[in-house]
Amino acid sequence: MAISVFDIYKVGVGPSSSHTFGPMVAAQRFLRELKAEGGFDRSAKVQVELYASMALTGKGHFTDLASMLGLEGNEPASLDSASIPGKQQRIEREKTLHLGGVKMVPFDPAHDIKWYGDKSYDTHPNGIAFVALDAAGQEVKRGLYFSIGGGFIVCEKESLNPKDVVGDVKKPFPYTTGAQLAALCRQEGQSIAQIVMRNELSWRTAPEIKRQLLEIAAVMEKGIEIGLAAEGEIPGLGLKRHAKEIWDQVKGTPWGAQLFELQDHVNAYALAVMEVNATLGQVVTAPTMGASGIVPAVLQAYKKFGRDVTDDSICDFLLASAGCAIPVKINASFSGAEVGCQGEVGSACLMAATGLCQVLGGTVEQVLNAGAMALEHNLGLTCDPVAGLVQVPCIKRNALAANKAVNAVRLTMLRGEEPARPTFDQVVQVLYQTGKDMCEKYKETSQGGLAVVWVDC
Ligand code: SF4
Repeated sequence: MAISVFDIYKVGVGPSSSHTFGPMVAAQRFLRELKAEGGFDRSAKVQVELYASMALTGKGHFTDLASMLGLEGNEPASLDSASIPGKQQRIEREKTLHLGGVKMVPFDPAHDIKWYGDKSYDTHPNGIAFVALDAAGQEVKRGLYFSIGGGFIVCEKESLNPKDVVGDVKKPFPYTTGAQLAALCRQEGQSIAQIVMRNELSWRTAPEIKRQLLEIAAVMEKGIEIGLAAEGEIPGLGLKRHAKEIWDQVKGTPWGAQLFELQDHVNAYALAVMEVNATLGQVVTAPTMGASGIVPAVLQAYKKFGRDVTDDSICDFLLASAGCAIPVKINASFSGAEVGCQGEVGSACLMAATGLCQVLGGTVEQVLNAGAMALEHNLGLTCDPVAGLVQVPCIKRNALAANKAVNAVRLTMLRGEEPARPTFDQVVQVLYQTGKDMCEKYKETSQGGLAVVWVDC
């Protein structure tokens, strides 16, 4: 399974990689297939079907809106957040869709989006189908897709053969586990970031990889800047923003320079990104959007407090963190609907810890140990978003997990070369098993936990 760093890090508008980004990508894929099969010109109408978690938390995650924007041909990476309200109002007012950005077709969101919260496919809880109909109402094509976390989309056939998901590009140093990655590093006498970089050369040139990594880092930093300057409430739950308030207290004050300085910065950075994410702003899947504040917060803290920070070390941070996320993607899941929040925030915490440990000079074993420790202490974390929104508990959860990642690195480095128990691969295995054992209502359904006791929203 050849997963690139740029399959892990993808730019798009929030708030959810599986429920917002994924449906937009699935809609575009449906249009491509419809055109390739010669059905586009005959199509006079489209409908959207949302299943299980996709329906249960779809309103809060703007899944309906994302599906419509995707059917109009919008790309997650280039979609301007500011244009979204205007596009939504036009669709709802005129009850039409600009299908593929080419032709107008009738579309009434109230009738043409079907919410099947009580129906689920065995393949995955995040099912979404698009149906194209001709002028006589006959079906031209039905495309069923699954949004399996982190913005990855598969059709039913691909879900049976994971190799199809990301193609079969041959990497020089293939690995599916942390132990294999460590063995490759020992064999080549190189760091995790170096091995991951050599694998990336299978897709792109070195200058292109560096340029794209720095673009990813720039989008992360931009999200922090926007979030730290934003005021007012977060729409949806009517929640107060906290990033700017905290930042105003932290920056440059004597108090902020003392005991809690690093912690305060990490908190403010993570909250900033998550507040941008919650308002349909542009963020990076890391590995998901619901957990998109953790890696940027730790990377930003490294840029502020680290020594000898360079473009190359920033790239190393991103290479190591994404490279260490690949065994999680292959052997477990990033999907809150499949394994709970441990798959989202836990994986992001692992990524932030491995990236930071890499650039602080950690050995291969220490990088993996830091990731294992970060993930281990997120095991069992449930997904219970209030009102189906990536706001409560998600925003503050990102801040707490970002600080946990820093602490995992610190503890690991202080322990020196002591072998990790449990190992990286054991923790990943337990993540998946715990997710399988977890009660369904704690897996992005908004039917358990905080989602049901938070009654005043
Ligand atoms: S609780 Fe965790 S997994 Fe669920 S939506 Fe929030 S961040 Fe994502």
